[in-house]
Amino acid sequence: MLSRNRLLSAAFAFAAAGTLVACGQAPAGGALTIGVADAASQRLTTLTALDQRVARVAQRLSEANVDLCPAVRQSAGWALHSANQYSNELRPLVQSRFGLEGDLPGVLSAPAGSAAADADLREGDLILAANGTALNAGPTRATPAFEGLAANVAVLDRALSGGVTRLEIRRSGQPLSVTIEPHRACGYDVQLNPSDELNARADGRRLFISTALAGFTRSDDELALILGHELAHHVLRHRDWSDVGGAGRQANDATAITGAGDKETQADRVGLYLAARAGYETRIAPAFWRRFGAYNWRVRYPQLRHASAEARARALEQVQVEIDTKRAAGGPLLP
Ligand SMILES: [Zn+2]
Repeated sequence: MLSRNRLLSAAFAFAAAGTLVACGQAPAGGALTIGVADAASQRLTTLTALDQRVARVAQRLSEANVDLCPAVRQSAGWALHSANQYSNELRPLVQSRFGLEGDLPGVLSAPAGSAAADADLREGDLILAANGTALNAGPTRATPAFEGLAANVAVLDRALSGGVTRLEIRRSGQPLSVTIEPHRACGYDVQLNPSDELNARADGRRLFISTALAGFTRSDDELALILGHELAHHVLRHRDWSDVGGAGRQANDATAITGAGDKETQADRVGLYLAARAGYETRIAPAFWRRFGAYNWRVRYPQLRHASAEARARALEQVQVEIDTKRAAGGPLLP
């Protein structure tokens, strides 16, 4: 797993009861044909779009499958970020584009159907206080840091764990009061890691997906296969984490799903169900894994435990038959 230092050097955004997002990598090389500012602006645009896709799919998977998740919590479903987590290069851009300030959490995404969207929270809203507790803007930091944002997110998570929460926000420079009624969701953060490696993993408390792998997926349906697989590791209790309580999380003892085969085969199978239960088109799974195998002949996903892409594709064709049969029978779609 990532060390704290690695997290810091990668300059992660952090999100309460929702999605962790990535940001602020240094430029990969000299941009000779376009100006540096334009290149940074384009990278930020690309990264923001990826953050928002991951947030959208994660929120839908987490709410649709809450009854299967061992840990649940009250979730806003938003993705948050702060100015201080970005590199010096991108910071002026994010301040002007999103109205960010110091460590205060700004809404990067309020996916349709989430509690944040239901409360009419919007991209660009800056959160100032929760239930009367002011969040801390902190100092302007010389290097990217997310501890300040993480502390603010912990305050938000605690407030949301109690249910209906009043937020003081700033929108287009104007103060505004918003009431949010959180939704029950799986109790895991999702984090987009800036990385050129095609990988994803779960550590018992969080799901990780690299920017390269998220970018490789061509649709939300494909992204839901990856995030569904990682969420399945949680559902199947394959990953342990000492801090299973987490901020505002509760154990959900109603579920005990097991499966045949090795853990990766189980996660593929249950992950397909999780994606299907969230309304994603799962018939694309075999083609996705074949495309992945053809593209990614050197690197196995996520490590070396997985069967070949072709074997995964064939196994998932069988799981799809199961899903279709259960759907036709009209019963609950349980793995
Ligand atoms: Zn796996």
